[in-house]
Amino acid sequence: MPTAFSTMIKPVGSHCNLDCSYCYYLDKADLYGGRQTLMQPPRQYIEGNKSDVVTFNWHGGEPLTAGVDFFRRAMVFQRKYAAGKRIDNTIQTNGTLISEEWCTLFRENNFLVGVSIDGPREIHNAFRRDRGGAPTFDRVVAAIELLKGYGVEFNTHRVSEGRGGEVYRFLRSIGSGFMQFLPVMEHAVQGEGGRLVIVPPGRPDAGLAPWSVSSRGFGHFLCDVFDQWVISDVGSRYVQLFDVALAQWVGEPPSLCTFGETCGDSTVVEHNGDVYLCDHFVYPEYRIGNVAEDNLVELIEGPARLHFSLDKRNLLPRECLRCKWYFACRGECPKHRFDITVDGEPGLNALCEGYKMFFSHVDPYMKYMKDLLDRQMPPALVIPWARQRMAIL
Ligand code: SF4
Ligand code: SF4
Repeated sequence: MPTAFSTMIKPVGSHCNLDCSYCYYLDKADLYGGRQTLMQPPRQYIEGNKSDVVTFNWHGGEPLTAGVDFFRRAMVFQRKYAAGKRIDNTIQTNGTLISEEWCTLFRENNFLVGVSIDGPREIHNAFRRDRGGAPTFDRVVAAIELLKGYGVEFNTHRVSEGRGGEVYRFLRSIGSGFMQFLPVMEHAVQGEGGRLVIVPPGRPDAGLAPWSVSSRGFGHFLCDVFDQWVISDVGSRYVQLFDVALAQWVGEPPSLCTFGETCGDSTVVEHNGDVYLCDHFVYPEYRIGNVAEDNLVELIEGPARLHFSLDKRNLLPRECLRCKWYFACRGECPKHRFDITVDGEPGLNALCEGYKMFFSHVDPYMKYMKDLLDRQMPPALVIPWARQRMAIL
């Protein structure tokens, strides 16, 4: 059976030039002691991946702090070991370091660039500040201007409660045709000096981190964005969660791991070679090996990944299994499962209420689009029906 996998590479680990107050990865500096640079050739990754297309997903921290020269050398290694395969590169950046030189590198190597922007100025600047506490909105918008014409994608990383429609309109106004809306919800404990440290589910001493979105707030945000999108932008702007929802209604595999029945296809290779099965489970107890000592393909095909993958389904509480929206939700991501069901079972997703609100809100539109697809018609034909329906409601 051919092995195809996607790997997230972290050339600088948690190192970042910003200090965003909700970043789940800054704590990893404690685990890895700050900046180092992975210089392992990507040979194992390319040779072990039996797919004809191999994708490198560059993440951080802030991956651009590795420097342009690091990436130029990485591109040389990729070409050296490609052996006829197509190599794709994606990179997620806060945008503040983007220069003409970076744009040239991205263009020459056909990078798909995701820039993290939270929304309009005051929403973005409330959390995304540099290490001196200065706001970053202007720098990020300037970077987006620089990147335009290079096929840039913008990702919004944070859901701003009560501001869904406004955030959506802003992202549309700066030309974003691809949007992700990710709920920031973390479980944390008090660490040294009273600092909050993010921990995985299952810690009885942990509580909700104060920067977390509320479940209802998340649901409202999604419904507001959806209402803007469905009356004007279906087929012309891509909102990842809506695309995933439509796939669930249609019965296609979702493109986002959180809504799959199982997961674990997004291996992470840290800057020192340590391997984890997910970016959100980079904790010592979840480390499965190191590429300097272990074969990456054997790690990925081994029992640790299988257990991680199946646990997503097998550890769900009964409330999820009998839930009306299970086909769409699948209990979402295990990193958010720190609530208890009414029957007292652990493992309920803390965003459950928000998801129920969202799925019931979009249900009629999803059914309409499914019907269009069944008749081989474009889903965008939902727009006039949605406008009419909303005017009536
Ligand atoms: S733990 Fe969550 S984010 Fe990680 S692979 Fe599974 S579903 Fe995806
Ligand atoms: S909506 Fe709630 S109960 Fe239903 S599957 Fe999702 S997390 Fe479970």
